[in-house]
Amino acid sequence: LVREAEIIPVRIAVRNMVAGSMAKRFGVEEGTPLPRSIVEYYWKNDEFNDPMVTEEHITAFGWAAPQDIDDMLALSLRINDYLCGLFYSAGLKLVDFKLEFGRSYDENGEMRIIIADEISPDTCRLWDVETLKKLDKDRFRHDMDDIAEAYQEVARRLGVLPTNGPDDVSETKIMQ
Ligand code: UDP
Repeated sequence: LVREAEIIPVRIAVRNMVAGSMAKRFGVEEGTPLPRSIVEYYWKNDEFNDPMVTEEHITAFGWAAPQDIDDMLALSLRINDYLCGLFYSAGLKLVDFKLEFGRSYDENGEMRIIIADEISPDTCRLWDVETLKKLDKDRFRHDMDDIAEAYQEVARRLGVLPTNGPDDVSETKIMQ
């Protein structure tokens, strides 16, 4: 189940609506829809507070090759399409999320870019479609209550909340 990956030090944010750092940076109200999904790159570096970077920085500093960036971008947009549909069917808007990638080598030495990250309410902004209630890590960031209940609500709507212990997850399956 676990595969070794060489981590690419770039965090990708995919945004469908304005929220979080984008709202602050451009002074645009949270919840403003974007005419098309926006993909942003950040250099993963705590010392420098994960600054936003462009493709030029990524290739100039050798964090990833142009082909790696193409693969990460294509995967990010496919994942966004898939997740938007999945969450919408659970009554949730996928406002934005972040992804991290790695290089995985097969037995012949062939390299493939794979997601090397979790996807969860810790890494996504998820709002209820009707009430716009935040059901993600922003509850923690803004000192709001009911964080555990909000995460459980997301799991329940997706049909992956175990009610009788860890083996009680009928809907979950391993996906390639
Ligand atoms: N995000 C994350 N880890 C980080 C930074 C951001 O999971 O270290 C997620 C965040 O939850 C949101 C998306 O990436 O879904 C975009 O975050 P943003 O750039 O708005 O930064 P934030 O407001 O979270 O600091």
